[in-house]
Amino acid sequence: MLSVVVHYGELALKGRNRPWFIKTLVRSIATSLGDLPLRDVRPLIGRIIVTLDDGADWDEVRRRLAVLPGIGNFARAERVEPDLDAMTARIGEAVEGHTAESFRVRARRADKRFATPSPDIERVIGRRVQDVTGWPVRLSKPALEIRVEVLTNDAFFFMAREPGMGGLPTGTSGKVLALLSGGIDSPVAAWRLIKRGCRVSFVHFHSYPILSRTSQDKARELVRTLTRHQLRSRLSLVPFGPLQQQVVVSVPPPLRVVIYRRLMVRIAERLARKIGAHALVTGDSVGQVASQTVENLAVVGGVATLPILRPLVGMDKEEITADAQRIGTYETSIVPDEDCCTLFTPRFPTTRASAAAAEAAERALDVDGLVARALEDAVVEDFSFPMLQSSVLEGDITA
Ligand code: ATP
Ligand code: MG
Repeated sequence: MLSVVVHYGELALKGRNRPWFIKTLVRSIATSLGDLPLRDVRPLIGRIIVTLDDGADWDEVRRRLAVLPGIGNFARAERVEPDLDAMTARIGEAVEGHTAESFRVRARRADKRFATPSPDIERVIGRRVQDVTGWPVRLSKPALEIRVEVLTNDAFFFMAREPGMGGLPTGTSGKVLALLSGGIDSPVAAWRLIKRGCRVSFVHFHSYPILSRTSQDKARELVRTLTRHQLRSRLSLVPFGPLQQQVVVSVPPPLRVVIYRRLMVRIAERLARKIGAHALVTGDSVGQVASQTVENLAVVGGVATLPILRPLVGMDKEEITADAQRIGTYETSIVPDEDCCTLFTPRFPTTRASAAAAEAAERALDVDGLVARALEDAVVEDFSFPMLQSSVLEGDITA
């Protein structure tokens, strides 16, 4: 049997919502490991115990648990009887053959009915380990920490802890809709909200068939990568070419990017309301490109009634790139493609749009008609992990 002790992070602090948070995390873990030889996922006094068959691939288990929001840390552990002699004997055997410069034992009694207090457990087991190995005890910064957790009907010990993703379990912070381009920034922005416990849906605007399908393929691949964290995702692919053609004939070049963005936000907002999302998410970072001056962000955001969350707003490009590499979206983001907004984009877009100028330019457009048609033409795809299936439901974006 392969046991894993999972410690949750921040949700320990969540008061009355705590049982719900734990249940949500238990369900995420069970889904994420669902196609492995999983026996059981159980919440047990302040931690979650995952049990798999002996044949389970620990590296795969580790990879999956490491990206689930809500997990503070986790460890491959061995189960022993909650009995001091039995624990001491087994740990004495387990350390044989290991090497360490120094060690300490750290014990926790989750069930205080266990008769021996933690410091005494540590002393008894520590003495045995020293007898067997000769390692010196070091209480601060030991090379090896042997952790013992005593629960009611089980005890567990382990020597290596893996860092978790942190954050909050998926679905405990509500639903949001992320505007996902094929670039570096927006996947990182979506990841930030996934980490904070939001269920993130995605919308991607593309210019197929004027441009290639590359941007859609990139968006799908990015959603697939992010789905490893939240296990289910929905992506709406919205044809944007017809809107751009209208903008090109009637909007002065410097204002076009701002008008494109305002149209995207209006469409995204309608989609968000349909799926019950409470906010939009973008990868904007102040000053990064001409469309992201605070003036332009204000004029673009002005058409939204839902809040627009911009988790990268104060980050530098290098910081965002480092995040993208860490979360595994970077390689997909840098695949060359033609962005729908570079199409028909002037060399010198305005950095200081005014709401009045944007509104005047939009008077030449049938904004409501363009938005309605884009929504009708949207194609929805669903993604899941571990299955990684995607099903296409044309038209219906309400489910
Ligand atoms: P990114 O790296 O995310 O593409 P960027 O630095 O290229 O961002 P912009 O192109 O100005 O910046 O886009 C700003 C934000 O607008 C993006 O982060 C994204 O949230 C949204 N966005 C831009 N283009 C699209 C698109 N084609 N589909 C969906 N959202 C988009
Ligand atoms: Mg971009």
